[in-house]
Amino acid sequence: MKNVYIIGAGLSGLSASTHGVVKNFNIKLFESSNLVGGRCRSFFEKKLGIEIDNGNHLVFSANENFYELCTIINSTKKIQILPPNLEFFDLKKNLYWNLDLSKINVLKMFSRKNNLIPHTNIFDYLSFLKFLYVKQKKTVSELVGKSKIFKTLWDPLTLGVMNTSSQNASAKILSNVLKKTLFRGSKYCNIYQPQKNWDDTIIKPCTQFLESRGCKISLKKRLRKLDVKDEFVSCLYFNDNKLEIKKDDLVVLAIPPSNFKKFFPEYEVPTEYNSIINIHYVLPKKIQKKFSQKIIGFINTHSHWLFLKNDHISVTISNANYLNNFDSNEIANIIWKEICSYMKIKISIPGFQVVKEKKATVVQSPENFNLVKKLNNLPKNLKISGDWTQSELPCTIEGSILSGKKAICN
Ligand SMILES: Cc1cc2nc3c(=O)[nH]c(=O)nc-3n(C[C@H](O)[C@H](O)[C@H](O)COP(=O)(O)OP(=O)(O)OC[C@H]3O[C@@H](n4cnc5c(N)ncnc54)[C@H](O)[C@@H]3O)c2cc1C
Repeated sequence: MKNVYIIGAGLSGLSASTHGVVKNFNIKLFESSNLVGGRCRSFFEKKLGIEIDNGNHLVFSANENFYELCTIINSTKKIQILPPNLEFFDLKKNLYWNLDLSKINVLKMFSRKNNLIPHTNIFDYLSFLKFLYVKQKKTVSELVGKSKIFKTLWDPLTLGVMNTSSQNASAKILSNVLKKTLFRGSKYCNIYQPQKNWDDTIIKPCTQFLESRGCKISLKKRLRKLDVKDEFVSCLYFNDNKLEIKKDDLVVLAIPPSNFKKFFPEYEVPTEYNSIINIHYVLPKKIQKKFSQKIIGFINTHSHWLFLKNDHISVTISNANYLNNFDSNEIANIIWKEICSYMKIKISIPGFQVVKEKKATVVQSPENFNLVKKLNNLPKNLKISGDWTQSELPCTIEGSILSGKKAICN
């Protein structure tokens, strides 16, 4: 039985562990914090009296590695499948419209007038064609910044998919996403959401699957140091113990790039992050009925996406570094005013919680994807995984899960 030591129990570490267990490897998983899930975790919020996700994670039905993992851990029934029918609200222009990608042939999609963004015509959508072939170094705004649907489509899509401004985001990566989803047809654009929350849909089932198959998950075990001898990792040091590693063992570092850099300072990795801020509000049921869709895109606002959950609503602000040092009450009040404008009523602010994820993802620029491509010559019994290690996909749940699988199976 091959011994595999996996460091980090976010989605990439959980994916590596699951695929390792399936291959009958002897898996030991170490996590520095006191819970599993990393940047995709849920917790009981005492102030609101409900369970919330740290952020609103959206997964497209094209993401086959996500679905494969859910199948292995037997949690597909806990996925809610939403049609790709999104409502948009432009606060500045006081406009509402629907982008309905369901039941429509993608090629004909924008030839129907009621599918167009207000004040646009079919020719404004020719910018889609620019994504068929994209040079590695281009940013989204360099590619389609002049398009009439930049502000209402390309910019919000880029922020939602890559948590990076269009001025910095890699157009090649957005093109890869479009080729996996929209360009293949509407059935690849359905939206996966958890029935309850992400802990219930993926984190807990994964943990239970691993433990039931003898994988040991050690919490509060931070990897402090590692030794490399003759091009192989030879020793792992934790808070209170050390582990000798043999040449035919495998070590998987499933940790963010800043943590990786502590062990390998000589490698150049992405170092700049963008934050995501989520504001969760508990609303009475009768007010929740004001929302016609489960997911609503906001334009010309601080808010980007509003998610209607079973017992609360949750607003996502991507690329939110400019708000990192703002007072949480202030942020919640600003966003609440935007929600009231959408609902066209004034209601005093309900109970809320603000979650700031300051290191939500790395900046997903062409330069950073290029750095990742150059990461080689690592110790021979070491693999890296994590959303940031995939040079063809954005930093997402799919990227994390695929990276964990590749660390074990490639
Ligand atoms: C608010 C928010 C919203 C998001 N929205 C979406 C979305 O809509 N769709 C989507 O697909 N993706 C989304 N993402 C991205 C997605 O959550 C991440 O890509 C994914 O969770 C990253 O998983 P990971 O395992 O690569 O990294 P992490 O989750 O960061 O896991 C790394 C783990 O390693 C541990 N660790 C670090 N150093 C050590 C050490 N030295 N020793 C031991 N353990 C260590 C950490 O504690 C952590 O648990 C979002 C992220 C955030 C934060």
